[in-house]
Amino acid sequence: MKVGVCGFGVAGGAAAMLLARAGHAVTILERAPQLGPVGAGFLLQPAGQEILAEWGLFARIAAASTRIERLEAYTAAGRRLTSLPYADAALGACAYGVQRGVLFSALHEAARTAGAAETLGVELASVEENPGSITVRDTTGRVHGPFDLLVGADGARSVIRQWLNPHTRSADYPHGALWGTGRSDWPADTLYQVTRNAQQLTGLMPIGGGQCGFFWGLRRAELAPLHARGFPAFRESVSRLCPQATAILDDLRGFDRLTFASYRHALPRRTASARCVLIGDAAHSMSPHLGQGANLALLDAAALSRQLAIQPLAAALPAYCSERRAHARYLALLSHALSPFFQSDSTLLGRGRDIALPLLCAWPWMRRQMCLTVAGMKTGFLDRL
Ligand SMILES: Cc1cc2nc3c(=O)[nH]c(=O)nc-3n(C[C@H](O)[C@H](O)[C@H](O)COP(=O)(O)OP(=O)(O)OC[C@H]3O[C@@H](n4cnc5c(N)ncnc54)[C@H](O)[C@@H]3O)c2cc1C
Repeated sequence: MKVGVCGFGVAGGAAAMLLARAGHAVTILERAPQLGPVGAGFLLQPAGQEILAEWGLFARIAAASTRIERLEAYTAAGRRLTSLPYADAALGACAYGVQRGVLFSALHEAARTAGAAETLGVELASVEENPGSITVRDTTGRVHGPFDLLVGADGARSVIRQWLNPHTRSADYPHGALWGTGRSDWPADTLYQVTRNAQQLTGLMPIGGGQCGFFWGLRRAELAPLHARGFPAFRESVSRLCPQATAILDDLRGFDRLTFASYRHALPRRTASARCVLIGDAAHSMSPHLGQGANLALLDAAALSRQLAIQPLAAALPAYCSERRAHARYLALLSHALSPFFQSDSTLLGRGRDIALPLLCAWPWMRRQMCLTVAGMKTGFLDRL
């Protein structure tokens, strides 16, 4: 088939590589003038590691990343709220703290080697689907295609999702986070987070090469005042909540190497038509508190290529949608429900969380459910009970 893949992030990169490897004529349509990773370091969960290993890419990514054995969260007063060891999900399981560029380069190289073509600097604006083909028009009016299949991998603000679901509402969270990467060898094997009520949240995650990912949660509206107060005042606030982050801020030295990321929740009803299918954040965008988006993007691409390999397009797209629906729905709804407990203006939710989380973690069955969920191994509300 002639396949257009719109967007070259984790989902589009993986889909372009797999479909080109399967012998399809793949064209990547990407709005960025040059392909490159966007965003912070991320946690590669066990389910994503398994898929990358099947594709022959995992060893290279693991070698450049850091093993994460557990997720820990503390209050500002130093009381432990959670400690979720990956070993509770499965013997020997762990996550990896990965620099986005490492995964990106692996996918990009593999997609190129498999023969995927790239059309860059193209911002898709609309889609036209006919019984025999599908085309897309970019913002300059140029038409791309015709394709037999269009893969919508254009991220959390997907134009293709909007075209498939003109009446679906997606919600921007008022909160987001400043993200950056700096030199630090602490913490060694843990995603470490500190929170004060639900109003302050910061975290550190080692991502290989002596680098550590850092984030500081804040409301979008607080960004300009934060910049106006200056970097030294910001460093002071971070050090008060999490003294361990000071070394990274001293390496960053200013706001230039910190990027603000906002979050969006969208769970569209339609994720496919006869010739178009959504994958990754385009199919399910969520806040990153559960650390699952990149993982889901890899699983989506794997499921799509598997279904296309075993049956014709007309059957493969509905089969892909039903295969992926429960997992995406579970994580999107869970992260939407939990987000206000970690980032909101409510003191009450923060206090409730501080009481409930340690109790839930002390209950072995519940701790295992939580570990399976973050590991990407629990794929629905009723799975693995
Ligand atoms: C701060 C933060 C931390 C995160 N941490 C984690 C984590 O620890 N673990 C985890 O698994 N996930 C994490 N995630 C989520 C994860 O990054 C995303 O879910 C994942 O990158 C989604 O990949 P994607 O390919 O679907 O979308 P994207 O990576 O957003 O890629 C979309 C691509 O489409 C292109 N595009 C968009 N619109 C158009 C258009 N109209 N025309 C042409 N091209 C277009 C964009 O330029 C981009 O290249 C985090 C997210 C954020 C914001």
